[in-house]
Amino acid sequence: MRKPIIAANWKMYKTFDEAVEFVETIKDKIPPEEKVDAVVCAPALYLPTLVEIARDTDLAIGAQNMHYEEEGAFTGEISPKQLEAIQVDYVIIGHSERREYFNETDEAVNKKVKAALSHGIVPIVCCGETLEEREAGKTEEKVANQVKKALEGLTEEQVQHVVIAYEPIWAIGTGKTATADDANAVCGHIRNVVKELFGQAASDNIRIQYGGSVKPENIEELLSKEHIDGALVGGASLQTESYLKLLEAG
Ligand code: PGA
Repeated sequence: MRKPIIAANWKMYKTFDEAVEFVETIKDKIPPEEKVDAVVCAPALYLPTLVEIARDTDLAIGAQNMHYEEEGAFTGEISPKQLEAIQVDYVIIGHSERREYFNETDEAVNKKVKAALSHGIVPIVCCGETLEEREAGKTEEKVANQVKKALEGLTEEQVQHVVIAYEPIWAIGTGKTATADDANAVCGHIRNVVKELFGQAASDNIRIQYGGSVKPENIEELLSKEHIDGALVGGASLQTESYLKLLEAG
């Protein structure tokens, strides 16, 4: 059985003190690691401190982006080698906000996924359609295409370490959630794409999250669906109480 993974995506929220207080507050209250993978993806600036605070607890810390090169003249960027050195466990790759505002392409996403895996960091790879694409009946095609490109060149074994986050863009930060059945249908489609490309074991084992206005009130129904193995959560992950409730549903 696939273990649920509930990841907080804090985006560009929280001061340093607020981030520290959050992790201090929740670190001993989260459900055991055997039950759910709990991840907080924080601003890069706070990562070393949060990794230290969360050490020896069941909470994992993730980044929200990284470059694909090991090192080099890339002012302002952070490399997979640097993240590995401070023991960051996860990294969000290809979030729709990065694709939209920072020109992140499918090619860059693919390079980042490979770079993360080669440094032992679990990539949480985002995909999802716009409202226009959904209304034009292009959701499956768009998502399949993003997933194929993101995973291109990986081995069957590597794919099983990847987490995919299906996040319809129209549901992010809008309060509009896809219905649990619609979200499940797209996650099932993604699982089929993985099966075609990498075979049955990869498709059975890869974890697929839903993201987009997930909150304590709707997470249980989403997680009850066959193909939804967790959630990537923005707004509702910013308060300790609500994040803990999300984890309890896992
Ligand atoms: P949201 O964000 O939960 O605030 O909709 C989700 C995300 O962007 O990952």
